[in-house]
Amino acid sequence: QDSTAHAVGQRLENDGVRFAIAGYTDLHGNLKGKMVPIGHFVDMAGGSELFTGAALDGLPQEVNDEELSARPDLDRGVVLPWQPEVALFLSRLTVGGEDFAASTRNVLERQVRAAAQEGLSMNLGVETEFFVLTDGEDSRGNVSDRDTLDKPCYAVPPLLDNLHWMQELVDHMNHLGWDVYSFDHEDARGQFEIDFAYSDAMTTADRVVIFRAMANEVARRHGAYASFMPKPFADRSGSGAHFNMSLADLATGANLFESDQDPRGAGLSQRGYHFAAGIVRHAAAICAVIAPTVNSYKRLVRQGSMSGSTWAPIFASCGNNNRTNMLRIPLGGGRVECRAVDSAANPHLAAALLLAAGLEGIRDEAELDSFHTENLHAVDPREYEKRGLVLLPRTLEEAIDAFEADPFTQEVCGKELWSSFIDLKRDEWTSYTTAVTDWELDRYLRFY
Ligand code: GLU
Ligand code: MG
Ligand code: MG
Repeated sequence: QDSTAHAVGQRLENDGVRFAIAGYTDLHGNLKGKMVPIGHFVDMAGGSELFTGAALDGLPQEVNDEELSARPDLDRGVVLPWQPEVALFLSRLTVGGEDFAASTRNVLERQVRAAAQEGLSMNLGVETEFFVLTDGEDSRGNVSDRDTLDKPCYAVPPLLDNLHWMQELVDHMNHLGWDVYSFDHEDARGQFEIDFAYSDAMTTADRVVIFRAMANEVARRHGAYASFMPKPFADRSGSGAHFNMSLADLATGANLFESDQDPRGAGLSQRGYHFAAGIVRHAAAICAVIAPTVNSYKRLVRQGSMSGSTWAPIFASCGNNNRTNMLRIPLGGGRVECRAVDSAANPHLAAALLLAAGLEGIRDEAELDSFHTENLHAVDPREYEKRGLVLLPRTLEEAIDAFEADPFTQEVCGKELWSSFIDLKRDEWTSYTTAVTDWELDRYLRFY
């Protein structure tokens, strides 16, 4: 270990790296860490960097608890393309020499291992949508003055006007070997999506964390800012982070979700359907993690104050290449896309729960109760029951209630993380429901 650390440190130093970050993510999926001068790299690799858990949001740690130690994953270091004097190492968190149970990356690692024990590995591609806005007068302005359409999806002129920061971001991603294959102007003014190749679940979850940090940095350098808030504007569509998932045979790499004999004609194998059914079974509980904010539930709506479609799901449903389902089987099959995930989700925790639910579905040979090819946003609410349609939670509170009521979530997260997540999110909900909003003042202050 020491000699590897020494070699990695030497290589970084030769490449001009001056500092390394012993990094990890908090419960929100945001980057945390300490910076170490490269001369101390070997110490850092051995776990020299300690953190007071009580200083982090939502960790089951008291001020008098032993500190957490970051054990950098030496194989996964990245030199920050926008600041090449710094290398970032995401780490395993330990306490007293043992894995720290409440680290979300460790939670995913446990599920990855559980899958490996069954000879499986999850491939994951995440389509993180986000806004890039300028610090204009109302601080919610668009970068491009041509970004004015009601239906701006795929619009080229505003895409060109945004290319200066986008191409820098794309270059950085490709420099890290992520293989960007396309990027576009999304469905809302000021909204974008940059798609890169799928990889194993841990690699992709790490990349989503780095991507959010990188987009923020790059936008800042161009006098703008990036936002991964799920629904910043009531009258525009929100930012989803669709999780495209498939299981591969660990030994051969073959995609086990592919099938040309799918009786439903969607190109998904029997195993893929069991996986999807497992997720549908736990959908309400999982929502608390994949749509983790008060604001998330303003995205998961049929229409609201928007004129067009929100492209976001409202039911715990599965169907073919139909964007109104929570689980969609995109054209060509071979994978399941979960559309309920939004860009604020902690990608490690989200991947862990989705993978665990899917594996459970496979073990139980779970079956879907219904399969939806129709536009679900157009279904009359009086028909929901008859059509086997179950709504997803409509508020963060409903989602936390479901999360707490389903024993599955505690099994996956571990008791400590599970209960501190619930406390954190209940606090968020209380703070929201007790705030008096502009909407209320506009409506009631002078009305009565
Ligand atoms: N922005 C939509 C969402 O909130 C998704 C649009 C798309 O299908 O790419 O999920
Ligand atoms: Mg999209
Ligand atoms: Mg998608």
